[in-house]
Amino acid sequence: MAKQPMLKFVKVERDMPTKRSAGDRKLDFAEIYAEFADAKAKEQASRCSQCGVPYCQSHCPLHNNIPDWLRLTAEGRLQEAYDVSQATNTFPEICGRICPQDRLCEGNCVIEQSGHGTVTIGSVEKYVTDTAWEEGWVQPITPSQERSESVGIIGAGPGGLAAADVLRRAGVQVTVYDRYDRSGGLLTYGIPGFKLEKDVVMRRNEQLEKGGVTFKLNCNVGEDITFEEIRAAHDAVIIATGVYKSRDLQLPNNTATGIERAIDYLTVSNKLSFGDSVAEFDSGQFDASGKRVVVIGGGDTAMDCVRTAIRQGATSVKCLYRRDRANMPGSQREVQNAEEEGVVFEWLSAPKGFTEEGGKVTGVMVQKMRLGAPDATGRQAPEVIEGADYVEDADIVIKALGFEPEDLPTLWSQPELAVTRWGTVKAAFTTGATDLPGVYAVGDIVRGASLVVWAIRDGRDCATAILEQMSGAAAVAAQ
Ligand SMILES: Cc1cc2nc3c(=O)[nH]c(=O)nc-3n(C[C@H](O)[C@H](O)[C@H](O)COP(=O)(O)OP(=O)(O)OC[C@H]3O[C@@H](n4cnc5c(N)ncnc54)[C@H](O)[C@@H]3O)c2cc1C
Ligand code: SF4
Repeated sequence: MAKQPMLKFVKVERDMPTKRSAGDRKLDFAEIYAEFADAKAKEQASRCSQCGVPYCQSHCPLHNNIPDWLRLTAEGRLQEAYDVSQATNTFPEICGRICPQDRLCEGNCVIEQSGHGTVTIGSVEKYVTDTAWEEGWVQPITPSQERSESVGIIGAGPGGLAAADVLRRAGVQVTVYDRYDRSGGLLTYGIPGFKLEKDVVMRRNEQLEKGGVTFKLNCNVGEDITFEEIRAAHDAVIIATGVYKSRDLQLPNNTATGIERAIDYLTVSNKLSFGDSVAEFDSGQFDASGKRVVVIGGGDTAMDCVRTAIRQGATSVKCLYRRDRANMPGSQREVQNAEEEGVVFEWLSAPKGFTEEGGKVTGVMVQKMRLGAPDATGRQAPEVIEGADYVEDADIVIKALGFEPEDLPTLWSQPELAVTRWGTVKAAFTTGATDLPGVYAVGDIVRGASLVVWAIRDGRDCATAILEQMSGAAAVAAQ
């Protein structure tokens, strides 16, 4: 009988792929983790305890069959591991790189709970799928038969693309509309290359295009084409537009030159990664080189901004957050990476306004905070410490305060498109169906700012619901 390769967590310690030194990684926008070596991936996968009730799987939004592909990896059966992994995830190599695993699968790993250190699920998932691409196991999209029905998808982010993949594999005619010049949504223009290299996203875009998905890029729905025109052209429409309205602060001197929105800063930086020439960078507006940068916010977007500024050659990078380290929304792993790279965190610090000279920002007026009694949500509310204000000098200030949905019913003249009181589109759980017949919605525009893995889940569920609807309609027509 073959030797049981699993349950090695007692003897083998948790190990991540090698992380590049902070000095090295500050010099470019390449990913900071190397790939697992083959033997290391097998060894780490073999730590899995193959629980009867795998909590990792139930806490993965895609319910990935993690114990099975870990076992297959440990046994060296990588192609089978890839087959199992891709059966539930459209972009496993992307999730393996950027899911906050500490809050999802790995955070619920049973051996972690027993003090042995979680299985490095995300790194193995990335390794398996990267290997599949290298070995040519990632199959092109080749529907066994073409269908006459067509679906229009507005938004080429992970939600829209996951739906496009499922629909196209079933032979549906799919057109994806996006206002950007490249598809991928925030995978392309939000998340920096040091977390997710751009060729990883582009090869998925190419796979979809080669598989027959039509992309209409540089096409802003509501400006270049109306929502009604899209509805008329397709049997069903999926809204997957994400959330892009930046939250703002109404503070003194808020409009001084040099105060920027995080999404604009990151988009410009990502465009540069493609080799594009960007006027707003060449003018110095979004170039942090030789400047003192202050980023306001404590989420993952703020972490991406501070680490981008470091790579652009800022002389100093500070992050202001009004709560403390334990209460910040961003991933602790990313804070550690940022600190290693030289970012200074000013915890319990909130902006009160900006100083300026001749219309140009010169600093952030900071008020120091303490954490008071818990509010209605149970979180301790920050309170101002009187008399502790100071000015943090800055040449560029980046506001990373979160995102809200754009007002789609107004922008698209669709008053019947029901939205929640937060402005997100109202859509049925598991199908994404909205109040408008034949119109569905997925991803951040439904959930509010969320995660890539949830957008993928929504896209897949919605596409499956549309296929069921189409099959039902075809069966009725055939009667
Ligand atoms: C800086 C940053 C870092 C992040 N890091 C992570 C991370 O590490 N891990 C993680 O899991 N999540 C992360 N997220 C969140 C994640 O990126 C989103 O949850 C996810 O991309 C949502 O997918 P989506 O398909 O709903 O929307 P998006 O990815 O936002 O895509 C929406 C697409 O719709 C297009 N669009 C919008 N309006 C129109 C219109 N009117 N006409 C045509 N096209 C339109 C946009 O151009 C865009 O391409 C991050 C977000 C940001 C901002
Ligand atoms: S998709 Fe995300 S949550 Fe699920 S197994 Fe992969 S890394 Fe973990």
